[in-house]
Amino acid sequence: MAIGVKVMRRPAQEVSYIRATLKGMALTFKHMLQPRYTMQYPEHRQTDTWQIATRWRGTHRMMTDEQGRSKCVACGLCPQVCPANCIKLVPGEDEAGHRYPLIYEIDEFRCVFCGYCQEVCPEEAIHVGVHYENAEYSRDRFVYDLERLSAQSHPVSTLWDPADPRGQ
Ligand code: SF4
Ligand code: SF4
Repeated sequence: MAIGVKVMRRPAQEVSYIRATLKGMALTFKHMLQPRYTMQYPEHRQTDTWQIATRWRGTHRMMTDEQGRSKCVACGLCPQVCPANCIKLVPGEDEAGHRYPLIYEIDEFRCVFCGYCQEVCPEEAIHVGVHYENAEYSRDRFVYDLERLSAQSHPVSTLWDPADPRGQ
């Protein structure tokens, strides 16, 4: 494909830039009167006019049953599918043969928030969440253990639905 080159000729004599300056200022003032699309984060957070998308994939959340036990049955699928290899699972089994996680940890620092763990979980136990404020001062604080994952209370992410690609 041919590339068009626009040649800008230098003015032969001195020119005034007042007109160009006024044009630029007019554009600036025009934008000042238009609605703002930015917010002063973190002083201003979610408002009625701006909501984080329901399909946002952020901080994980482990779901629990009525007795407060993790819904995870330690099947091993999520650490298997995780592309970032950031899920640590040590399975256990009780006297009745029910499997449960002895250790379940997610390193949120290594996680790429692909959502595969949520998609693959047969018990709908682990979810990525609609939450993004998980900054920490030390790297080890990014490793969420089972207790911490279960204590999260933010909404969980809705998965992408081919029948509703825009999430409406
Ligand atoms: S969201 Fe993706 S990268 Fe993060 S823990 Fe789940 S599977 Fe691994
Ligand atoms: S896929 Fe679900 S049930 Fe299986 S180990 Fe992961 S969280 Fe537990």
